[in-house]
Amino acid sequence: MPAAVDPRTRNLGPVILLGPPGAGKGTQAKAIVARFAVPHISTGDILRDNRARGTELGKRAAAIMDRGELVPDELVCDMVADRLRQADCAPGFVLDGFPRTVKQAEWLDAYLAGSKCAPAVVVCIKVDYNELLRRLTGRRTCPACGRIYNVHFQPPRVSGVCDVDGSKLVARPDDSEEVIAPRLKAYETQTLPLVEYYTRSGRLRQVDGAAPVEQVTAQVMKALEA
Ligand code: AMP
Repeated sequence: MPAAVDPRTRNLGPVILLGPPGAGKGTQAKAIVARFAVPHISTGDILRDNRARGTELGKRAAAIMDRGELVPDELVCDMVADRLRQADCAPGFVLDGFPRTVKQAEWLDAYLAGSKCAPAVVVCIKVDYNELLRRLTGRRTCPACGRIYNVHFQPPRVSGVCDVDGSKLVARPDDSEEVIAPRLKAYETQTLPLVEYYTRSGRLRQVDGAAPVEQVTAQVMKALEA
């Protein structure tokens, strides 16, 4: 039987998961979705989907993503606007990987105010650099069900194969060692200023992302209730 949907869904509103690549934003977004039944909006997933479908946006983003750099703000903001206009976002949504620059955060604030949405609650997941490297180099994903594994500390039962549906697990091309460094650098220089941005407006909650995954989820849920 599916888990009961939390009756507070109607009041969840916008949630932003902030944190470096490998912090566990995707995993925590899935936990929020399971509890509150709101959409999970991952800009990285939408861009990868556009690449796979060969859209104009996907073609423009491909080389930038392969270098571990950020796709221009206007492209990403337009893409997010398209998604937020869909009816399923009305009760709330979880943004994973957006905003990533102060420009994007300012755009989002203006968009939410213009749409008469509540201001977003921002949950920042903190993890240190060496742990991020270990997580990113070991990350494997099931292309069929999206379940995330790690060869170092959360391996599948059979090496390289999804426990749930038996699909062959894949590593993201940008989880290669050469691309991880520029991605973490982009986080430090372009995304970290958002911690200050959201602290100033009193909307930031910090959680310790190095704790075991269930404990991180408990901290995230507490932050959303606060
Ligand atoms: P992610 O799956 O969130 O790690 O994103 C993968 C890649 O997509 C990033 O390294 C960027 O190239 C691009 N990307 C995702 N979200 C954004 C964003 N909000 N702004 C700019 N580029 C993004």
